[in-house]
Order: sequence, then structure tokens, then C-alpha cells
Amino acid sequence: MAMVNVRRDVEDKFYRYKMPLLQIKVEGRGNGIKTVIPNMDDIARALNRPPTYPTKYFGCELGAQTSMASERYIVNGAHTADRLRELLDNFIEQFVLCTACKNPETELVITGKSGHENMHRDCKACGRQTTINMRHKLVAYILKNPVNKKEKGKKGKKGMTAEANVGGPMVFEKGAEDGSGEDEDASPSGTPAPGDQGVPTSGTDIDNVLGRSDPVLDNPDAAEEVSKKLAKTDLNGDDDDEEDADSPYAVLGGWLEDNKDASDADIIAQIKEQGIVGKHKVLVEVGHHLFTDEVGKEITKRIPLLQALVTSEKHQKSLLGGLERLLALSPNSDDLLAAGTTSKVLMALYQDDILDEELVKQWGTHVSKKYVDKEKSKKVRKSADAFLKWLDEADDESESE
Ligand SMILES: [Zn+2]
Repeated sequence: MAMVNVRRDVEDKFYRYKMPLLQIKVEGRGNGIKTVIPNMDDIARALNRPPTYPTKYFGCELGAQTSMASERYIVNGAHTADRLRELLDNFIEQFVLCTACKNPETELVITGKSGHENMHRDCKACGRQTTINMRHKLVAYILKNPVNKKEKGKKGKKGMTAEANVGGPMVFEKGAEDGSGEDEDASPSGTPAPGDQGVPTSGTDIDNVLGRSDPVLDNPDAAEEVSKKLAKTDLNGDDDDEEDADSPYAVLGGWLEDNKDASDADIIAQIKEQGIVGKHKVLVEVGHHLFTDEVGKEITKRIPLLQALVTSEKHQKSLLGGLERLLALSPNSDDLLAAGTTSKVLMALYQDDILDEELVKQWGTHVSKKYVDKEKSKKVRKSADAFLKWLDEADDESESE
């Protein structure tokens, strides 16, 4: 196997840190063409990172879907080895090398409470901690798929470094020792349960979904049919359990995160595949993971999908909860909320009859820590002020008529 320096800008052949040269194999054709990286596992091992991180990084940088099931690391589309090697260099620069001494023996350490996480590189060579650009799209993925070898009860900063050495490349550190009680309410679905190994290999990524076509939503009658079916299956009772990383909801969430551009029909196919058709908690995942910071614009394109999925008050509440997470947990949350994004989104949902007036009003006046922590929950509602005021004024007007 051809080996290269982890830092390819270093020409010294005695440079200590080597990795296999990235190989590719382009498979399939047409819409289904994809680039397989057969030696991603070995590369990742040399970098002391899970193979999912660089693969996902390629996806982020190329705007391509990735698939990481059954230890096959795939980027959709045809890409050259040179391009991917360049991107791998960038990944190493941004997520591996110590920025102070350029040594690759680092660990990614996550600090802070759920919703307020921060991440840095902990360098074993020089001991310095250097920051990661939290705005990179890969960060959200890493936060959701941390390498968590820490065991329950081992908390606190003191033991961190020592444990990290034993425990693998990355340590997920909870911000506060006494925070565990709150986490249950505040934590988003991605945080692995204590004891969960959290190794992000398969599960969150589903095999290539391109090429699968389901004409459901191209046809309004069919959409209505789906909507009816979805409404029916909602009678299956409550589903408030299953917060763990393997739950169909978590899988759906991960898939949505990776496939934000998927067609409505593909999303519905995915919900079917997970066996959670009609469940209101589907909307938590959709609200949280289908959109980006541009949700104010994106939401209008997803109205038909949401109309098909939201079939009861419970569904509406779950959708609000998911959107609350999206807005509160974004690295740019403060900017988003200050810009009144919540109002924009609610307005679109209200005007297209996805949300009922009474329900939104109720939501707007009741801070809850069900989806994010209280402080954030307050902020999200404050960012809905303009819309809620508008609702009230519209009410007054119709009363005085
Ligand atoms: Zn260093």
C-alpha cells in the first residue's frame, strides 16, 4: 500500500506520521454514479479519527450525499482521487493537525452543555488546545456522532487527558458535573446515552438513495392519499420512548441531516423504511434536521411535505419542537433569532394551514424545556414576537369589524 506523509506538504521521507494514499473506485453510472473510497478505514486509523468524519467532510465540501453503511465509504457523484486527496489535506488541516505545532497527534474534545457545545483539538505533542471552526458543517455531524468511550460516572476535567489517552481519539465531555439531570430534557436526540459507544460508523447513513423514485408527491391526489394513510396510522398510540441513537427517529434524523436536498417523495420513502409513518415524533426530526440556517426560505419549499406529514395537534407540537431545536442549537443561533427567523417560519406555516392559531399562541406563551433548555426556549419564543403580535392584531381587527 502506498504510504504518504499525513502532512503532504512535508517532503521529509523520515517524517513520522504516515497514512495510506487515498484510493478511489468510481462505480455505477448516470444518476447512481458514486465514488467509493476503499481504504478510508486505514486512512482514518492513521489519523486517529473515525472514518465517517473525513467521508462526511468530503460530502460537506462537495455538496454531495455520502453513504457510510457497512464499512463502505461512498461519496455520491464521480470525483477524482486528486480532488479527494486535496480535500483530505484540508480535513487534516482543519480537524487533525494542532494549529500551534502542526503535529497530528491530537484529540477532538467536546466541551459545554448540550446546545452550547464547543470543540477543540488537544495536542499530545505540545499540550496546547487549539480551536476548531465551529461554523464548518462537519462540526454539527461530529457533535451528533462523538466518539464516546467515556464510561458513566467518569466526569470532570481532571481525568480527561489521561482517559483520553486510553479511550480513543475523542472524548465527549459534559460541561458540568451536576448537569446530568438537565440533560435528559435538554439534550438533542444525537447525544449518545451513557454507556453507548457512540462510534459513528453505520446506522446514521443509509445506502445510496439516489435513483429511487417515488412519484407520490408529484401528484396531488397521491399526496392526499398519503396524507390520509399517515393520519390513519397515527392511531398506533403514543411513541414517547426511544430517544437512543439507534431508534428509527435518530436514524431518520441522521439521514435528513445528510440529505437535506432530498425530494419530498424520498423523505417519505425514508420514513416508511424506518417504520414510523404517521408518528408525530417524525416531525421533531424533520423540524430539526431537514433545514439549515436558511430555514426562513427553505420552509416554503417544504410546505407540501409538511402538509402531508402534519396530521394532528401533536404533530404540530412536534414540528415546533424540532424547529425550536434547529434554531436554538445552530452555531449561529443568536444571529438567527435576532433576525426574527422564528417569526418568518411560523408565518409561513400558519399561512399554509400547517399550524393552528390557538396552538401557536399557546406555544408562544409557554416556555418549555422539553426540546432545548429554558433560556434558549425563551429566546426562540422572543424571536417569534413579531408573528405573535401580528396574530393578536389580526384578531383585534376581525373583532372590531
Ligand atoms: Zn501541538
